[in-house]
Amino acid sequence: MHQKPDADAMGSALALFHFLVQFGHTVTIISPTNWADWLNWLPGATNVIDYERNREKATNALKDIEWLFCLDFNTLERTKNLAPIFAGLSCTKILIDHHQQPDTASFDYGISDTKKSSTCEMIYDLIIASSYQEKINKEVSECIYAGVIADTGSFRFSSTHASVHRLVADLKDRGLEHIAVHEALYDNFLENRLRFIGNVLLNRLEVYYEYNTAIITIPKSDLLKYYIKTGDTEGLVNYPLSIKGIKLAALVIDRDEERKWSFRSKSGFDCNTFARKYFEGGGHFNAAGGRDAASLNETVKKFIIAMKENEALLS
Ligand code: 5GP
Ligand code: MN
Repeated sequence: MHQKPDADAMGSALALFHFLVQFGHTVTIISPTNWADWLNWLPGATNVIDYERNREKATNALKDIEWLFCLDFNTLERTKNLAPIFAGLSCTKILIDHHQQPDTASFDYGISDTKKSSTCEMIYDLIIASSYQEKINKEVSECIYAGVIADTGSFRFSSTHASVHRLVADLKDRGLEHIAVHEALYDNFLENRLRFIGNVLLNRLEVYYEYNTAIITIPKSDLLKYYIKTGDTEGLVNYPLSIKGIKLAALVIDRDEERKWSFRSKSGFDCNTFARKYFEGGGHFNAAGGRDAASLNETVKKFIIAMKENEALLS
């Protein structure tokens, strides 16, 4: 899965895990980095190896590996420090992903389908196609559902095709308790995160109405003041899109190692192209991310220039 895995990355890996172990396979899940605490609710998440914290265990697991499933990322670089290790493995590498422009040369087999709502939906499709659908137990269901709601914005993004609703209907028929998943993912934060969001919306949001764009800039001091942890900033970038007329929402966070960008759009603005062109990133049409080694002030200046260059697409 990609670094700083989200509910789709973690959910798809765990869903595949809970499917494969029923056949007696030895399955290990490795994340390149840590993840949000609230993802630990997913069945099996606490057994996932964080490569940055436990390199030895991860390296041992990779020694006798036969198959490497690469889930929810399109290029090996998205696995951060694991990228050169994965590149050097001689095992069979299988990609299952829905991001744009996959680096297919890095994988032996796989499915890349940018029309799919989530990698979790693709794991569901794989299980159905395998004709072992009776193996969709409580664990598999919950993991798939978590990724689907996360990546579809709870069934509102354009990728929410009829197939997504059919998938959910099937999981419900199999006994899925969806309320528990929603509560675990969305009603499981500490008070400080809510106060942090209040401060962000009041003091860190800049709206450029002439470009239908809004930008949120988060300095390191805010992260420290509000004890912000991995995952606490997820979803923040969506808030400005609720302002009438806004087509592009951008969020930049001053992380230790880099300035991390998130982009979300409406009305036909292509975030993937924008993130690739200006911020070494990528993703999907309406949701992408990127990075910059420059300072927070400098990268925001770059963004404003980029926004102006894109005036015709934003107006
Ligand atoms: P987020 O803004 O939630 O971090 O990411 C939005 C989407 O863009 C996700 O699908 C994520 O995988 C992708 N993404 C985020 N950052 C990067 C990046 O630096 N490079 C690429 N290629 N994709 C990214
Ligand atoms: Mn995904």
